[in-house]
Amino acid sequence: MRDYLADRTQLIDSSGIRKVFALAEQLKDPVNFSIGQPDFDVPEPVKKAAIRAIENGFNHYSQTAGEQRLLDKIRNKISADYGWHNPSALVTSGVSGGLLLAFMATVNPGDEVIVPDPYFVMYKHLVRMLGGKCVFVDTYPDFRLPAEKIERAVTDKTKLLVLNSPANPTGAVYSHQEVQTIAKLAQKHGLLVISDEIYEDFCYDNPCESIGRYYDGVLILKGYSKSYAMTGWRMGYAAATEKLKPLLDKMIQIQQYTFVCAPTPFQMAAIEAMDLDISGYIHTYRKKRDRMVEGLKGNFDVVKHGGAFYLFAKVPPKYPNATAFVQKAIENNVLIIPGNVFSEKDTHFRISYATTDEKIEQGIEILNRLARQ
Ligand code: PMP
Repeated sequence: MRDYLADRTQLIDSSGIRKVFALAEQLKDPVNFSIGQPDFDVPEPVKKAAIRAIENGFNHYSQTAGEQRLLDKIRNKISADYGWHNPSALVTSGVSGGLLLAFMATVNPGDEVIVPDPYFVMYKHLVRMLGGKCVFVDTYPDFRLPAEKIERAVTDKTKLLVLNSPANPTGAVYSHQEVQTIAKLAQKHGLLVISDEIYEDFCYDNPCESIGRYYDGVLILKGYSKSYAMTGWRMGYAAATEKLKPLLDKMIQIQQYTFVCAPTPFQMAAIEAMDLDISGYIHTYRKKRDRMVEGLKGNFDVVKHGGAFYLFAKVPPKYPNATAFVQKAIENNVLIIPGNVFSEKDTHFRISYATTDEKIEQGIEILNRLARQ
């Protein structure tokens, strides 16, 4: 046969997280700290809303941009949260869908995309597949937003800057000051900023800040996967200021020829979800974070960050790299993800504490033993 695979397929490897996921299936009752989704189920009223939507016939394509009632709700929320006048919105198939549409609408071959490192792994692969180049800005060891380094990374080829707060994999939440500094910098260089705020509800110490409040060249991506544990329902949205309406309109056009629309019954359920109080879940996750940091801090170099449900801890010095440590942890029935999945370095590992308190205790015990051994 002729060579049927496109060159771009050579640029990607299967996700390191998926590989650990596959291993998890072979282990018997592992401590699974590899998961990127909440351990609670979709809240009951949201499930009921989805079932109702299916029974009431919301099973067909919606408008490309989304169901009008959901769009209205999103636009109202965005106006209230960011003070934007007349924002545009688009319902996407998860934030993943929003990311693909956003990068397809912006990245030309050869364009540079500035990404703080460590980063959510999808950014790198999507940008690469589109022929763009990620310019990584090292944020080790504290994972704060290094404005000077970001400014130094700006070149004539820079197309955009990706921000993600609360962050996967570090749990870092950018402060008011950090966000304002980056807003000024973005303004100075006329940079488009894509702000991935999928973990916005998982903020434990202070309310979440967003660059969207201080800069109008921002495309906001938000999701329902994490807040309502509906990762399999594939729901998210993109929102833009009036200034960026042309970008959002292009994303809608691309959605026409790719996803067509986000799943209609789940759009109806998302309307319901947005009214739900999830503070009880967040409180539980705050306690899990506190316990995890407390449990590991004697043996691991781990910073207590303010959000998401991850810790990014340094590998004990006797291990040559994170991959070696993760191998050892898996042999001991604990699933964690090596730092090189999210980074150009392999010095740290990601722990997701989105699991039961019992598993957290077991995992703390095993990881501490491995560090001391
Ligand atoms: N952004 C970040 C930072 C994430 O961690 C994830 C999921 N792991 C996504 C986007 C994509 O989420 P979804 O497509 O389920 O909305």
